[in-house]
Amino acid sequence: MTIAKSLLSLQGTDQALAIQRREYRVIEAELDSEGGLPELRQLCEKTKIRELEAKLEIARLESDLALLKSNVAELEARLYGGAITNVRELTAIETEHSAARRKLAQVEESIAPAEVSAEHTRQQYADLISDLADKEKSWNSRQLELRKEKSKKGTAFNEMLEIRNAEASHIPDDHLARYTRLFRSNRGIAVVRVDRGICQGCAVRLPVGELTRLRSADGPIPCSCGRALITEQ
Ligand SMILES: [Zn+2]
Repeated sequence: MTIAKSLLSLQGTDQALAIQRREYRVIEAELDSEGGLPELRQLCEKTKIRELEAKLEIARLESDLALLKSNVAELEARLYGGAITNVRELTAIETEHSAARRKLAQVEESIAPAEVSAEHTRQQYADLISDLADKEKSWNSRQLELRKEKSKKGTAFNEMLEIRNAEASHIPDDHLARYTRLFRSNRGIAVVRVDRGICQGCAVRLPVGELTRLRSADGPIPCSCGRALITEQ
């Protein structure tokens, strides 16, 4: 096999390896993401805390309500009990009484919306938990599938890498070094063919002198585009 043919074959193998590596990484990334479960668990936690806070708020309002009710009742007993006859004192109690009643009305009004909000959060949490259970179940089977696929791809990659290394071992060092450098810098294309005097890499027609040089060379030569080596074979 000529050097050019060996390099073209090596390039084919290297391109296939690059595709396999990309596919392997896609699988790896999906495995790392755990199907979005960590984010969903975090959301469940946050919603659970919000639900607890909403319940706490209702409890706080209810305890305020009880206190205010007994306060109002106590003030009314003093107001209408007949024991206090001093006008100034009565006026003071009346003022306190109407303030307490206003506050009582406010607290009473805020209980219903707080209950609606708590119920809403409770429902959200229940939905999330059920969603999480579903996703955990489907992730378990997906994860098994991915692990199998990953190990299969890994084995195939290693087998192809051995073939690649065997191919490379037959290529002279200087040619291999040039090829490797270009393959990396030119995104997986190091050797291109020249067809009827035209470089298939950059679509430029080669000067006659270059063609003559190419034909007498023992392997591919650099194209004027500088991106690739060219060969007629
Ligand atoms: Zn070119």
